[in-house]
Amino acid sequence: MSGYGSVRAVRSVIIDTLKAEGRNPDAYNIAGIIRDAFTPRSEGGYSAALDAEVWRAAVDKHRRPFGIGDMVRVVVTTKSGTTEHHYGKIYQFRKANGGIYRGRPVKPHSAYVELDHHTSGWLGPLSEVTPALDDFEIIRSMSQINSDAPPPDRYYKCRRCAWHSYKGARVMVVHKVSGQRVRLCEGCFNDDELARLGHDVMYYGRHGQQTITELTENPELITGPVSDSYYEKSDGEIYRGWADCFPWLVPAEAAALYAKWKENLSAAVTA
Ligand SMILES: [Zn+2]
Repeated sequence: MSGYGSVRAVRSVIIDTLKAEGRNPDAYNIAGIIRDAFTPRSEGGYSAALDAEVWRAAVDKHRRPFGIGDMVRVVVTTKSGTTEHHYGKIYQFRKANGGIYRGRPVKPHSAYVELDHHTSGWLGPLSEVTPALDDFEIIRSMSQINSDAPPPDRYYKCRRCAWHSYKGARVMVVHKVSGQRVRLCEGCFNDDELARLGHDVMYYGRHGQQTITELTENPELITGPVSDSYYEKSDGEIYRGWADCFPWLVPAEAAALYAKWKENLSAAVTA
């Protein structure tokens, strides 16, 4: 039966797996992961069984507490009362009363997070801070990265260095909620890219705010009639075009009406 002959072998597998998932191995207690996710064999070493659920649970449990410089996501409420997801790095830990710790805090209560796209930083309890990586899926399968690559090459170049090199993309970062993605080479893949993609998504939401409000108040706008002019789109067509670009932003009721509208349309076509 296959397995790992030594603690060293199993450690290196864990480190490689963490890296492949876009995690920083330094942020994990590897001994704890070995204890929880691997079984010692009678002949020495560890079993190879890497059950996905067991692995996930062990990794979540043994992530070290937040550290200074960690890229995180926080929720900011704007003046108009909407919420936005912002990304930034933890700059400092604070006490519950906002005070600064002397020395290294053992169990910090709050964090001050520096934000690039907001008028101020963010100060709040660590319980409201989410590691940026939790919002993204990191994909390294070449067939997945290039599944819809256009001809003639049928592979994607790195988004960042494509203009001066022909480096192929090796990592695809997918924002889980929106499905927005960026493809990069290993050299260009870092925390800042997560924040960049997350902020792109945040700006789509910000710019779509008026449309979101309109479709929340009058969901039926999305099923408005088709224009009878070839040159000018009707309001309904404009709403539907917007919904096709930003499906994750469409308010629930309008989304349901639109889904039904599409169903009726295809039924009419096949009838
Ligand atoms: Zn690159």
